[in-house]
Amino acid sequence: MLIGLREALDYAEQNNWGIAAINTPTLELLLGTLKVAERYNVPMVVQHAQVHEPVNAIEDIGPVMVELARRSSAPIVVHVDHGETYEYVERGFAVGFNSAMFDGSRLPYDENVAQTRAVVELATGRGFGVEGELGIMPGREDGVESSGTADETLYTHPEDAAAFVRATGVTALACSFGTVHGLYKAEPKINYELIGRLREAGGVPVVMHGGSGLSCEEYRASIDQGVRKINYYTYADKAALEAARALLTEKPGTYVFSDLTVVAQAAIEKDIDALARCLYRVA
Ligand SMILES: [Zn+2]
Repeated sequence: MLIGLREALDYAEQNNWGIAAINTPTLELLLGTLKVAERYNVPMVVQHAQVHEPVNAIEDIGPVMVELARRSSAPIVVHVDHGETYEYVERGFAVGFNSAMFDGSRLPYDENVAQTRAVVELATGRGFGVEGELGIMPGREDGVESSGTADETLYTHPEDAAAFVRATGVTALACSFGTVHGLYKAEPKINYELIGRLREAGGVPVVMHGGSGLSCEEYRASIDQGVRKINYYTYADKAALEAARALLTEKPGTYVFSDLTVVAQAAIEKDIDALARCLYRVA
């Protein structure tokens, strides 16, 4: 069933969970994710990032995401990830998405506030929540531009987070505290104490971007400090590629692409299952 972002974050708050928010630009990612959400009957976010438009347009994969979320026995949010323009968020809402992130983190502060505020107004009229971003997170959702390390000078300041939330009315805030998008080239250094201060000063749940590749201990320590939504994509899609590559090596006679999608989906499901057991504290 479809649920809103606020509702999902409330569940997370009550249970001390981090909601798994998975980018699902392909059917394999989408089906693999929903199977795990249904297995544990936990809320999850399926999301489409603007940088994944070359993989599948939101008008194509979006209606599939919405329909499968509606049909699912698990509570699912369908969310625009890293919308870089007001128009892109509108495109998501037009195909049935019920939540959005507006990423104005590369804009000057005042412009980020003004554009995020406009998206909040658009969403509020429909009863939807909005995630904003403050502070620069290295790399992009497609995982190719990351330098693999976080620069501490780019970390979000708690007083800025408080002012930003007040000025925009966002439901949740993506902040910079040590994670990076894409693959890690160096050990991530998460500033847990900063997460706690951001949660308290901002007054809204904190969103972790660049959630791929952390240990379960790192996830849970972040959740304990107030992270309630964890964006995750790169390692699941990497697992899919490795499964496809292994199949081609083991069975060089494979002659149709669909055989690759079967092993890819199974690998994604396995990867998301391990993530879910950690984030939802499944024994
Ligand atoms: Zn992100």
